[in-house]
Amino acid sequence: MRCGVVVLAGGSGSRFGGGVKKQYLKIGRKPLLAHSIETFERCDEVDAIVVVAAAGDENYCREQVIDRYGYKKTADVVTGGKERYHSVYAGLSALQKLRKTKGKKDASADGGSFVLIHDGARPFVTSAMTERVLAGVRQHGACVCAVPVKDTIKIADDAGFVTDTPDRRTLYAMQTPQAFSFDLIHDAYAALIEDEKRFFGDARREEGAAADDFSRFLARLTDDAMVVEHYHPAQKIFLTEGSYTNIKITTPDDLAVAEALCHG
Ligand code: C5P
Repeated sequence: MRCGVVVLAGGSGSRFGGGVKKQYLKIGRKPLLAHSIETFERCDEVDAIVVVAAAGDENYCREQVIDRYGYKKTADVVTGGKERYHSVYAGLSALQKLRKTKGKKDASADGGSFVLIHDGARPFVTSAMTERVLAGVRQHGACVCAVPVKDTIKIADDAGFVTDTPDRRTLYAMQTPQAFSFDLIHDAYAALIEDEKRFFGDARREEGAAADDFSRFLARLTDDAMVVEHYHPAQKIFLTEGSYTNIKITTPDDLAVAEALCHG
């Protein structure tokens, strides 16, 4: 199987405060972002990694992470966008280009028929998790890492009052990596970007209720599976076991936890 990976590091780190952006802070012996790249580099089935950096950080990312630690499978560092979904689409487009030049230049840089999308802010993805999600995508076409929620989850209204308690046995917290057939996820994201242009672009063609619905969808869009659920509702998405240690480093408090979890 040929597999490409998009590692997202295009966030502003706005929940983190000033100084070096969180993705470049050291955890253990190397920058936060390097941990997940290294795990994917070591995975035999992965043959190309595209890293998405925030505008202006591309060279820093290349020099301080990719070149410095000698990651060979990283085929490109591309510029991210305003929202996470813009960054994902930039990464997928770069992999698509690699797939088109397959065979012409360097077969080892083939973007692959499957793709893993991973938040660079999750340094503790493991090889075992990567293998599980790859086995799942091979079988089902879409497979995402998740863990059962341990807490009771409540739905609340705008005033902060409880309106409902979903059955905890049916609830899972989504993580990354999330894996998809390349054509499926590329098509879903292309449709999303096209809809954004249609509803909100300069040459906007539609307004009204449909635009409001789309706006609400964008506001709650937080993972890749949701894009498939929306544009390919017939596609089943399989959940595979993530890990409670596969945390996303979001606020400064998470750094202390990350240091405690770090082995290298
Ligand atoms: O902010 P959030 O928790 O959704 O970020 C998840 C991941 O997406 C992070 O690794 C972050 O760097 C990345 N991201 C991105 N481009 C954005 C926003 C977030 O690559 N515009």
